[in-house]
Amino acid sequence: MQTLRTAAEAAQAARRLARPLALVPTMGALHAGHLALVEAARRDCAAVMATIFVNPLQFGPTEDFSRYPRAFAEDTRQLEAAGVDLLFAPSVEEMYPPGFDTNIDPGAIATRYEGALRPGHFRGVATVCAKLFAIAGAECAYFGAKDAQQVAVLRQMVRDLALPTDIVVVPTVRDSDGLALSSRNAYLHPAERAAAPGLYRALQAMSDAVMRGETNRDRIVAAGRAHIAGPLREAYLDVVDPSTFEPLANIGSRSGPDVVTAIGSAWLGETRLIDNLALNVPAAAERADLHASVT
Ligand code: AMP
Repeated sequence: MQTLRTAAEAAQAARRLARPLALVPTMGALHAGHLALVEAARRDCAAVMATIFVNPLQFGPTEDFSRYPRAFAEDTRQLEAAGVDLLFAPSVEEMYPPGFDTNIDPGAIATRYEGALRPGHFRGVATVCAKLFAIAGAECAYFGAKDAQQVAVLRQMVRDLALPTDIVVVPTVRDSDGLALSSRNAYLHPAERAAAPGLYRALQAMSDAVMRGETNRDRIVAAGRAHIAGPLREAYLDVVDPSTFEPLANIGSRSGPDVVTAIGSAWLGETRLIDNLALNVPAAAERADLHASVT
């Protein structure tokens, strides 16, 4: 695996890799979720380029940019073992040299949920991804389903700007108790870690409610809220259209999507977890059957 630090060198090396080329952007502190992206990329494509860059543009002024976990030596070892061909690991100055002043504004989708809690976050994500896409020139870029709103923002950016990179989404990798793997899980104290799977259970309860034929958003969210207990404090729970992240008042309405996403976020001390579950909405006829079988 070749490791490069400058955009010019990385762009040149990427052009020489076999096609199709996959790009796997990360902020490092790698875990099995990141490695699942690399594995999917290797399965689908002829070469894989990974990036490690803790992007200051996507952190707010009071967020954890300076203390975000960094583990470059171990990350490099893992990427090499996973079969990555090229690692691009630039400095902040390399990505944003003096005079850098162009940003991508993703619009309304970036104002909800994560965007509301982290003003400017998706602008930073979209900007860095557009730049990484340009440097890599890859046919495909791999992202985790765990960050579902990020996926929706990037899909919109690719569509709106006609970028030649397809977004590929890889299922969320979880610990055995259901907690979605995240570099930020390292911040959790033992008691917080023990409470953390409550968020996944909340999403499962929302999913169960939809599968039972419940269509009312408030009742679905209430089913989830029952699991946000103890040290967990809700940031948001909702059911949204996965492509726009607009809340859905009535799940399963004729004009609504067949697949909806239950999204959730909860605080544990200073750490905020996020997670989501995609749900296939039962068709109206199936719902009638479900009601018949429970009454
Ligand atoms: P990050 O380093 O946190 O910016 O994440 C880099 C990529 O890994 C993003 O596309 C994330 O969505 C993805 N990712 C993070 N955690 C997981 C997980 N548990 N399962 C699958 N993908 C993940």
